Amino acid sequence: MSGNLYVVAAPSGAGKTTLVRMLLEREPAVHLSISFTTRAPRPGEQNGREYHFVAVDAFRGMISRDEFLEWAEVHGNFYGTSKKWISDQLAEGHDVLLEIDWQGAQQVRKLFPEAIGVFILPPSMDELTRRLTGRGTDAPDVIERRLAAAEAEMRHVGEFDYVIINDQLDQALDDLRAIVRCSRLNFGKQRGQHPALFAKLL
Ligand code: 5GP
Repeated sequence: MSGNLYVVAAPSGAGKTTLVRMLLEREPAVHLSISFTTRAPRPGEQNGREYHFVAVDAFRGMISRDEFLEWAEVHGNFYGTSKKWISDQLAEGHDVLLEIDWQGAQQVRKLFPEAIGVFILPPSMDELTRRLTGRGTDAPDVIERRLAAAEAEMRHVGEFDYVIINDQLDQALDDLRAIVRCSRLNFGKQRGQHPALFAKLL
């Protein structure tokens, strides 16, 4: 593959979606994979923008046709990444970013060992609780379940290459951009991007 594949995971409430959105604004060459999900759209979400929202039957059909690079059940809903879209993007040399959970990250790592794993942590448990409660869109039992799920997700932080602690958003964004820039400076990537220069100099 010629583009870089970034796999970004985090517990709910760590600020992953905001960070990724800000990264994409500043690094437009990084293309975000839009996942398929069976979860209902939240207010303000648009089909094809945040997710491709599909029925359970349609999702199962995609599983049976082997159309997912990875898929997982998260909080009782199915989520999956389109295999074709990813391989097309990487083959065209684009950087691709997947915002997925630890189960999906494990599957991707098996298929693409060179994928760059980034895990985003909240600065403290208190802050995570505050952020999950402060969102105001979910019922208390949903928040409880999310907190338990967040703890379960964070147990997998050691499976990722890089860890960002999202205390100050600007700092966390700087860190994420540093990972992207650094990955592009890898020898093989540089040679792939500048074949004529390498041929002349070496
Ligand atoms: P939410 O429903 O809050 O948008 O996402 C819930 C969780 O599902 C998040 O941890 C998110 O990263 C994960 N997720 C979103 N899309 C995918 C996907 O395509 N595959 C996997 N494995 N997880 C996903």
